[in-house]
Amino acid sequence: MLIGIPRETLPGETRVAATPETVKKLAQAGHQVQLERGAGLSARYRDGDYEQAGAVLVDAAQALGSELVLKVRRPNTAELAHMKTGSVLLGMLDPFDADGLHTLAQAGLTAFALEAAPRTTRAQSLDVLSSQANLAGYKAVLLATQYYGRIFPMMMTAAGTLKAARVVVLGAGVAGLQAIATARRLGAVVEASDVRPAAREQVESLGGKFIDVPYETDEEREIAQGVGGYARPMPAAWMTRQAALVAERCKQADIVISTALIPGRPAPVLIQPETVAAMKPGSVIVDLAVERGGNCPLSVLDQVVEHDGVTLVGLSNLPALLATDASALYARNLLDFLKLVIDAEGRFALPADDDIITACLVCQDGKVLRSA
Ligand code: NAD
Repeated sequence: MLIGIPRETLPGETRVAATPETVKKLAQAGHQVQLERGAGLSARYRDGDYEQAGAVLVDAAQALGSELVLKVRRPNTAELAHMKTGSVLLGMLDPFDADGLHTLAQAGLTAFALEAAPRTTRAQSLDVLSSQANLAGYKAVLLATQYYGRIFPMMMTAAGTLKAARVVVLGAGVAGLQAIATARRLGAVVEASDVRPAAREQVESLGGKFIDVPYETDEEREIAQGVGGYARPMPAAWMTRQAALVAERCKQADIVISTALIPGRPAPVLIQPETVAAMKPGSVIVDLAVERGGNCPLSVLDQVVEHDGVTLVGLSNLPALLATDASALYARNLLDFLKLVIDAEGRFALPADDDIITACLVCQDGKVLRSA
């Protein structure tokens, strides 16, 4: 197949959908790879290395005009204008954004949104949410260290002893668990909260303490199980009890890393402005949920702000700050996805009855196939 890799144009998007490593594999499999000149530069991959791996360097229009296009983000109108009806698109396409999917359908694309893959064992190697959230969780802790005027580990020095930082992680999914592991490696004392009961064991296995909000009714217990591994909105009574406990833990904390999300909904509000006002001066909140409204209403998208001496870091797209590794993992995810839709002769072929394909195929033949 003729496979195109354009440069990403969304401001701040430094990742690229293929690396010299994955281009080499595609070329070895007999595909012709057209990479836009400079597509990998912001992720520190050189044109020459792609060429050596077998890519041909082209302009944006040519890369976008390929039979199969590998992208990080959903193409915008200008990019769509270069794409051919009937071509195949793989990327993180925002499957909950109905209008966005509509533009892809109108362009006549067969489009796969990889974020929609089920969280199953078979889908693990192509799970873009996991590969990217894992890096975001790591980077969130490093950002916290940057804005925190103290250190993370306990340190005994001739000039006196410095106490270990207390870190609270809200939401112990992929990003939250990596944040716990990273903060622990730096010597912090870590506590974490999640709605899903399965999270307790995972938090504890990383050396964190689980902030327990007991379920009081069968309804709470049932909803907390979530669906497909994801959380569902909890009943108001549970949220109120959780808020009280989280407020108490945040007041004792030096760092709060919040990652709580519910698919297709605004992020749950877990840190109220009163809680921020009661936190210690110098403490830092890194709100990874900021793109979906934030776990704290005081977080500002793509800004670092201060309230009552507390720094709120609202930077989005943290994987783009680790563009080399984030691209390497993302490109491998795409390669694994391609194995499902390219047949033994190297042609695009939709397998029948495949749960990953059914979940990810968002548009075909001019129609949106997913109710966002
Ligand atoms: P996510 O990004 O959708 O949400 C982050 C976390 O926020 C989740 O753990 C969620 O339970 C939590 N959350 C939601 N509301 C909350 C609230 N009010 N208070 C506290 N926490 C709240 O989740 P994710 O990181 O994408 O992970 C989703 C699930 O998928 C997890 O169970 C994870 O273990 C699982 N998973 C499975 C696989 C696999 O088996 N292949 C791969 C990756 C992830």
